[in-house]
Amino acid sequence: MKKVPFVTKEQVDEIVKQYPTPFHIYDEKGIRANAKALKEAFSWNKGFKEYFAVKATPNPYLINILREYGCGCDCSSLTELMLSKAMGVKGEDIMFSSNATPAKEFAYANKIGAIINLDDITHIDFLEKTIGKLPETISCRFNPGGLFKISNSIMDNPGDAKYGFTTEQMYEGFKILKEKGVKNFGIHAFLASNTVTNDYYPTLAKTLFELAVDLKEKTGANIKFINLSGGIGIPYKPDQEPNDIYVIGEGVRKVYEEVLVPAGMGDVAIYTELGRFMMGPYGHLVTTAIHEKHTHKEYIGLDACAVNLMRPAMYGAYHHITVLGKEDAPCDHVYDVTGSLCENNDKFAIDRELPKIDMGDYVVIHDTGAHGFAMGYNYNGKLKSAELLLKEDGSVQLIRRAETPKDYFATFDGLDIYDKFDFEV
Ligand SMILES: *Cc1c(COP(=O)(O)O)cnc(C)c1O
Repeated sequence: MKKVPFVTKEQVDEIVKQYPTPFHIYDEKGIRANAKALKEAFSWNKGFKEYFAVKATPNPYLINILREYGCGCDCSSLTELMLSKAMGVKGEDIMFSSNATPAKEFAYANKIGAIINLDDITHIDFLEKTIGKLPETISCRFNPGGLFKISNSIMDNPGDAKYGFTTEQMYEGFKILKEKGVKNFGIHAFLASNTVTNDYYPTLAKTLFELAVDLKEKTGANIKFINLSGGIGIPYKPDQEPNDIYVIGEGVRKVYEEVLVPAGMGDVAIYTELGRFMMGPYGHLVTTAIHEKHTHKEYIGLDACAVNLMRPAMYGAYHHITVLGKEDAPCDHVYDVTGSLCENNDKFAIDRELPKIDMGDYVVIHDTGAHGFAMGYNYNGKLKSAELLLKEDGSVQLIRRAETPKDYFATFDGLDIYDKFDFEV
């Protein structure tokens, strides 16, 4: 499928008068349509709730859009919990799915009434020592080990992942938690990442539903929800077929009716913790070509770099690129598209066929709405960009200003050097 940006050259010409490139921009219309579709696809399940994975796009303006569709927040850290609380997300609308969790984070999660999803059996004691009496509802993260396969194809390698309880530990953990007075249980698992197939959730659901039935039978635990977590992917590449959330929802429903309903568990709520699927396609990193270099290869240098989008440098991930105004021009040039870090992996694309790029062209990098801005860092003293929201009415709202040198040097505040910076440059 041809990937078409949700902004045009004319729109960006206007936007840059106020907000210079580089910036991340998000598409309100796309976010809403997708959130609505997810809600509909799982409307057969009374307790369904999506806990948006805050780490993917920790921006309150965007998360508030999702909240209109009933979404809660899935948090992985203290600051994400703080953000959710500050936004007015309450109690069980917050899921705390963390690992190697500091005591302080458990304490805060408990204080604000978040559902705690334990990553390990030893965390039962750790949590109890931290907060005293355990909450009424607890979730445990499951990791069956081995390879996660759909038919014969290997999707991921849970046996090599640091997360979760083993199968035996799930039974043991549920017994211990029950003895300690826990009344409601959740089961969580995240066994494959960025899956571009409608079969991932139904396959995962079958495993978890069967486990739930057996756990209930053997431990007597009251299982309140099953959390299918994240992992529904997006088509980063033009030749990939996007997931169909309605097919996925229907696939999960079928397994639910096959496994849970006959076991008298037709009241179990289905939760999801999607990040990428909720936001990924609805973000672009908009940059300007500022250098061209003809050496052993042809290079285009952008005004953005890996600190704005780390996925290509970190995972060799593909992100589609469109040169605005040249959407229909022939891709008859081959470029490495680079940022300015002193790191040779700071390349948004390698040997990419693109139209001829002229200096000043806007180069749009697609699918940066999740795990994009959020993964940013400050290497080489580079500053983080602004985030903008393209609203449904076509107007643009600043939803996070760009970092300034003052932000970057803020942690020297109170030290001698702080007064010596030329903050006005
Ligand atoms: C990262 C993460 C998610 C979201 O994953 P996506 O691939 O963005 O859907 C959900 N749950 C947990 C526990 C995570 O760590």
